[in-house]
Amino acid sequence: MSVLVRSGVGPLCAVARAAIPSIWRGKYFSSGNEPAENNPVTPMLRHLMYKIKSTGPITVAEYMKEVLTNPAKGYYVHRDMLGEKGDFITSPEISQIFGELLGIWFISEWMATGKSTAFQLVELGPGRGTLVGDILRVFSQLGSVLKNCDISVHLVEVSQKLSEVQALTLTEEKVPLERNAESPVYMKGVTKSGIPVSWYRDLHDVPKGHSFYLAHEFFDVLPVHKFQKTPQGWREVFIDIDPQVSDKLRFVLAPCATPAEVFIQHDETRDHIEVCPDAGVIIEELSRRIALTGGAALVADYGHDGTKTDTFRGFCGHKLHDVLIAPGTADLTADVDFSFLRRMAQGKVASLGPITQHTFLKNMGIDVRLKVLLDKSNEQSVKQQLLQGYDMLMNPKKMGERFNFFALLPHQRLQGRRDQMNARQSKPFASPVAGFSELAWQ
Ligand code: SAH
Repeated sequence: MSVLVRSGVGPLCAVARAAIPSIWRGKYFSSGNEPAENNPVTPMLRHLMYKIKSTGPITVAEYMKEVLTNPAKGYYVHRDMLGEKGDFITSPEISQIFGELLGIWFISEWMATGKSTAFQLVELGPGRGTLVGDILRVFSQLGSVLKNCDISVHLVEVSQKLSEVQALTLTEEKVPLERNAESPVYMKGVTKSGIPVSWYRDLHDVPKGHSFYLAHEFFDVLPVHKFQKTPQGWREVFIDIDPQVSDKLRFVLAPCATPAEVFIQHDETRDHIEVCPDAGVIIEELSRRIALTGGAALVADYGHDGTKTDTFRGFCGHKLHDVLIAPGTADLTADVDFSFLRRMAQGKVASLGPITQHTFLKNMGIDVRLKVLLDKSNEQSVKQQLLQGYDMLMNPKKMGERFNFFALLPHQRLQGRRDQMNARQSKPFASPVAGFSELAWQ
């Protein structure tokens, strides 16, 4: 097992990361091929069968929501599923460079939008806190740039277990955490660099100050409704108990139209689609906030621009997993439809992307950063880990093209500011948005 030893905290050092397994959450899977003996009756399966027996088949969205975030038995609620011992691995867990470049993106946008005196960094679904930890390390190193800025960190997390892991990653042990399970701010602390950090279950509870939002591999876990085109029109896919096999679930089609059909576009040409109303609600809330107080949102996930069909899949122990087998023991996910996110933001804020992770990180200067870290390190194993991490993030056949970046910005950000106009320009000058265009090294 080639796990690096944490060798220092300065940004010039290579920081420990897990060995990279060969699979990440970027493949498709549907249900029905598993033999019955591989279908243990989990507490979640018992709960779902009881629910279906009492009220009838459930939507795929309800299934995902119960399996992933049910407060008593949900997959995300009581376990740490990330990393090499877990079920899947994410970019920040693979390479520190990922978080460092995102840290630079946020500072760049903060500067381009007038260096506000307050800076709320809000992350949705922070996992183990590794990404925000890497971002804060960059903020510490660029302390002179941010010195007059009042920074705070706000984490939106439903998982009790992961919020504890995040606190361990981020906070100073000597300052005890304040906990209040009844309050919308269920935990508060201070980071190792002295920044206040608060935990919430819902974005709506995060204060509406000038904020920069981050969602990495968050939108893909939100519940999706699935629809199939039939000669009678769109029909929603439901989950029912299989009448042939005891303790087994199966997909069925609704006999008539269902409410979530309103999310299907009139000119839709695909014959199977997935819609995610919760993603729409969150994008609308982010857009309202950014339009009101400024700031920006950066969304990174695997997804498509309104072209893919059946992407619902499961992951367990770094392997694809039948979504209907042993619910509660595996992660469930579906590709993010960026065309839907864009529609939900329209009219309120401007959006950029999706562009591939390869392009975004290239534009952010990943090659320069890799070189600095390689030059700085003397150990061959560290160099090898850095190069493997780079390959995993950037290789078009690995995460480079499957993952996308998408941003929400106030309209003025792209129109430019009058005070940035130079004498020869008739229009205000808008500085390029880092990552979405090539970075000019000056
Ligand atoms: N961003 C992290 C983790 C991605 S896994 C990374 O890239 O490593 C998804 C994260 O979203 C987990 O932290 C999970 O607990 C959280 N999560 C899942 N559903 C959520 C919801 N409805 N609201 C808030 N957080 C949620």
